[in-house]
Amino acid sequence: MIANVMLQRLFDIHKEFWSFDAASDPRTKELIARQQLRLIGDVSRIVSFIMIPVAIYMIVNLYIFASRPFLAAGLFGLAVVIFISARNFRRQKRQVFDIRYFDAAISLLCVESVIVALAVTLSIAFPLAFGQIPFNENSVILALGSIIIGGFTYGSIPRAQTYAIAIPTVTLSISFLVIKGASGIQSVSLLFFFAVAIDSIYRLFFFNFAKRHIYAAEQKEAAETVKLLLNDYAEQSSDWLWETDTDKRIVRASNRFATAAGLPIGDLNGTHIVDLFSEGEARQTLLRLIGEGKPIRDLVLPISVAGEDRWWRISCRVMCALDGRSKALRGAATDITNEQRAKDQIARLAHYDSLTDLPNRSLFNESMERSLARLQGDQSLAVLYVDIDRFKAINDTMGHSAGDRVLQAVGHRLAAAIGTGDIAARLSGDEFAVCLSCIENSEDLADIAAAIIGQVSEPLKVDGHNIALGISIGIAVTTDQSDSAEDLLQRADIALYRSKENGRGRVTIFEPHMLQSLQDWRSMELDLQSALKRREFELLYQPLIDIETEQPIGYEALVRWNHPTRGVIMPDEFIPVAEATGIIIPLGEWVIRSALHEARNWPDHLSVAVNLSPTQMRSPNLLPTIIHGLASAGIETDRLELEITETVIMSNNESNFDLLNKIHSLGVKIALDDFGTGYSSLNYLRSFPFDKIKIDRCFVEEVVSREDCQAIIRAVAGLATSLGMVTTAEGIECEEQLAQVKRAGCKLVQGHLFSRAIPAHEIAGRVVKSRPELADMDPMPESETTLDYTRRRIG
Ligand code: GH3
Ligand code: MG
Repeated sequence: MIANVMLQRLFDIHKEFWSFDAASDPRTKELIARQQLRLIGDVSRIVSFIMIPVAIYMIVNLYIFASRPFLAAGLFGLAVVIFISARNFRRQKRQVFDIRYFDAAISLLCVESVIVALAVTLSIAFPLAFGQIPFNENSVILALGSIIIGGFTYGSIPRAQTYAIAIPTVTLSISFLVIKGASGIQSVSLLFFFAVAIDSIYRLFFFNFAKRHIYAAEQKEAAETVKLLLNDYAEQSSDWLWETDTDKRIVRASNRFATAAGLPIGDLNGTHIVDLFSEGEARQTLLRLIGEGKPIRDLVLPISVAGEDRWWRISCRVMCALDGRSKALRGAATDITNEQRAKDQIARLAHYDSLTDLPNRSLFNESMERSLARLQGDQSLAVLYVDIDRFKAINDTMGHSAGDRVLQAVGHRLAAAIGTGDIAARLSGDEFAVCLSCIENSEDLADIAAAIIGQVSEPLKVDGHNIALGISIGIAVTTDQSDSAEDLLQRADIALYRSKENGRGRVTIFEPHMLQSLQDWRSMELDLQSALKRREFELLYQPLIDIETEQPIGYEALVRWNHPTRGVIMPDEFIPVAEATGIIIPLGEWVIRSALHEARNWPDHLSVAVNLSPTQMRSPNLLPTIIHGLASAGIETDRLELEITETVIMSNNESNFDLLNKIHSLGVKIALDDFGTGYSSLNYLRSFPFDKIKIDRCFVEEVVSREDCQAIIRAVAGLATSLGMVTTAEGIECEEQLAQVKRAGCKLVQGHLFSRAIPAHEIAGRVVKSRPELADMDPMPESETTLDYTRRRIG
């Protein structure tokens, strides 16, 4: 059973060895052949020395026992073996192998192995068979030795090895049988068994030998491929490889590396890797990581290359030396300067205003938070909220790009006007801010701010025009440690609002009561949102009196807000809030609809005047609301009078004029309200064919005592008359004022002398008419939309 298994195993090994084709591809074939020849040479050297005592022993034996012909044949056989061994020894010594002769050399060695085997036969088996030398234990050892050594000599060439083993085995077996007859079969069997075993073992050695060399060759080839790829990578890619010795000094720097670093290779080799980079936090990190022996991944480092600041990203591995302690580095680097510059640019855009190059709101807030955190003891910090006065007018009159240059100039001037530790920023539009750190005396603040106003307000020349600049400032100073940047800016903004309110070009320091006003504003804003729905608004009517007849010719609708907790609120208090929040639009529409609805109950000669805010003029619903209101009320269009202030026409806005013309073309009258309070440019009177001018009450108030007021009213009334307009004097409270404005040429008056604003039901001569009688004005059919109706009415 065991013998069976062994035989099977022997057979398998042989099968594998015989089928092992080391020479399947030319490169492997060459590689193996080279090793085979080298090995044969090596072995021959040993064999040559072994052969000397063996040869002497054989010669002595043959000389003593053999006849002359056998002695001659034996000596010839030994001479052949020695000659061939010496030849192979020489071949190994020369170490010159021409690959073209590999096949021939292997074949020759096979032939040699046969010759050597036959020579051995001639000198051992042959004399033994013919009884020329004695058959004893020496001759058996000699026979086995010749098989072992012959196979060993040609072990690197399996075919030759088999010849070198098989031929002596067969000839020696024949000799044994000749000498011993049938009793020699046992010895022959043993000889064959050992011969096969020796052949198999040698083949196993060869098999491993060949495998080892093929594996080594593959490894070498793979290493060469990797090297080639790496070289290719180093040449082609935007990255480059680098390595250091265990002292972290650069070694074997590539051309690309040297070019990127702007240094000759000679200088680069030997430079400490850390010394390559510019001082800074990143370099310290590199130094630390190297010190800790940690690998580095995507570390971005600044480097100065030929005087230019650049950025590299490096990664590396730590290579342990054989002693396990000293470590070299091997890694890659990429120049990411462009990427880094793009990132810096984005970061800059996120933190700086591109027009003025000043920090933006977000950076200003961050810097302020940092300054606030650094405040100690009784130190305080001040924020100045700066806004250019009437900047829109600069944009409107000189164009947006001139406006931009003004913003730039203001930015530069602000930055120049402050100290080194202070920060100036552009928050938005024409709003700037300054943070003054470490304020010791808050009384000095007003002086500092006034000085800033002085410097920034210097006349400025843009496009050859002198621009008079003005700024207003609101200041907030820290009160306690819990103040945030946002709180301070909000307080400074509230103070700025006061500066604007009080006439611009001035400084206001925030005081807590201002916050109360702001809170009032906010709560009014909230209440206004629902006031219309809760029907808290009411219209009162103040008569417009004909100065001759002293009879009302119409009424001006004035809105009041009946607040549930605060009582009656006058329009000058809530209209600015309604304007700022946009509630003015639905409120204004309600006023138009209600006033027209009320006017339908009045005698036909009475007109109704309604005030229009500038914000309403921007509403696309204004015209449809007017037309629909008139149609619903069924009154003549000329009974409606719209009063606008000069701010509506000040911006010279085309669409405002367009809208006014459309309204006017319906027959609705247009009055210019509060004339004399703003710019009061006479040009405005030319820009639109107003039906009426209302002279502001401030002139009427002092008309009795001041001649200049009389002169102004006289001039305006005269001008209006010559332009075909009617003049109304507002705010008449006494007979003297009435007499004066009458003398000045005003046709209409309004004021408490005649009547305060009264509820609709108190209007004298009020008649209640049914709608169908009055609706002779082509009311809007229900199937039609307001817009369609508008188009149809005005064409
Ligand atoms: P006030 O005295 O009340 O401040 O009046 P103002 O005309 O200065 O009004 P406000 O401060 O509200 O106007 C800011 C204007 O700045 C509004 C906008 O048209 C203009 N603006 C905003 N950003 C820019 C910009 O980048 N360039 C220019 N040229 N104008 C801008
Ligand atoms: Mg402004």
